[in-house]
Amino acid sequence: MKAAIYKNEKLEITELEKPSLDSRKGAIMKVHGCGLCGSDIVKYREHLVKDGTVLGHEVVGEIAEINSNTDFKVGDRIVSSHHIPCFDCVYCKNKNYSMCKHFKSTNIFPGGFAEYIYLSEEHLKNVAHIIPENMTDEEIAFYEPLGCCVRAIKRCELPKKSKVLVIGLGSIGFLMAQGLKAFDMDVYGCDLIDDRIELANKNGIKAFNSRDLNETIKYIKSQTDDLGVDAVFMTSGADAAIEPALKTVRSGGKILIFASTPKNFGYANNEIYYRELTVLGSYSPSPKDLEESYNLLKNGKVNVHGISTIFNINDIQKAFDDTISNKVYKAYIKMNG
Ligand SMILES: [Zn+2]
Ligand SMILES: [Zn+2]
Repeated sequence: MKAAIYKNEKLEITELEKPSLDSRKGAIMKVHGCGLCGSDIVKYREHLVKDGTVLGHEVVGEIAEINSNTDFKVGDRIVSSHHIPCFDCVYCKNKNYSMCKHFKSTNIFPGGFAEYIYLSEEHLKNVAHIIPENMTDEEIAFYEPLGCCVRAIKRCELPKKSKVLVIGLGSIGFLMAQGLKAFDMDVYGCDLIDDRIELANKNGIKAFNSRDLNETIKYIKSQTDDLGVDAVFMTSGADAAIEPALKTVRSGGKILIFASTPKNFGYANNEIYYRELTVLGSYSPSPKDLEESYNLLKNGKVNVHGISTIFNINDIQKAFDDTISNKVYKAYIKMNG
């Protein structure tokens, strides 16, 4: 079967052996396509994976073979996520599902940028869903990334109508902002790219350009009785995002980090201490978060229509390059046609 592997710091199209069920429980999915995630970009750009690795986990496809106790059957159009917690370890008992050893060790095989993948019985039971008939493949591909946002929003435990600011309106920031709206928050968003600001505004986010820090602070203060927002969601890992976050959050407020940074810039000890800030990290969704994400998409609470750029698998290198250079908003890699 055809697959894209990471090799010599590039993506390469190659032939791999098609996974088979043999006597295992689970299913073989014929992959229709797979979203290109920010975490794939980080792994690629920072060379965090071995040669031969198949990246991609935001998979959409149909069941080609199955041996399962679930109700799924051959031909079902499904979407799946890649990790499943054990629900039993110290992390799981404290709801830190994405820190669970089992969570980290479970995966789809060999990876989403391949014609066929193996999904275990655990995947089918916990993180796979039938695709709603009214949704396209590239729309439902937002199931896992939106699940990450649901997780981040729930981590913050904010009361309804809280004022929040999303810093960075790339595809994750856009999902985060819409997710926050769906959870009944008062949502502001900022970015440096005008197209992104316009798209967010069209979808009910009070979005603005944050190129001037003083103007940004002034605007947020004017919207919040001079206090600052209750929470800032950082979906940008740029150095330049730290200061606006610290300057626009109210004392006693929360900063949620959903971004990896190329280098460590330390943390704002005195701001956190004197101003009683809460800084939270949020990484990857639990099956429950994913289910909420699925329902938000299915019920049209989060708009993902027409925001993906579709690339053929043969052009996957271009998809990575164009994502890195911000030429595309969200890349979706189609396996055939
Ligand atoms: Zn992802
Ligand atoms: Zn666990």
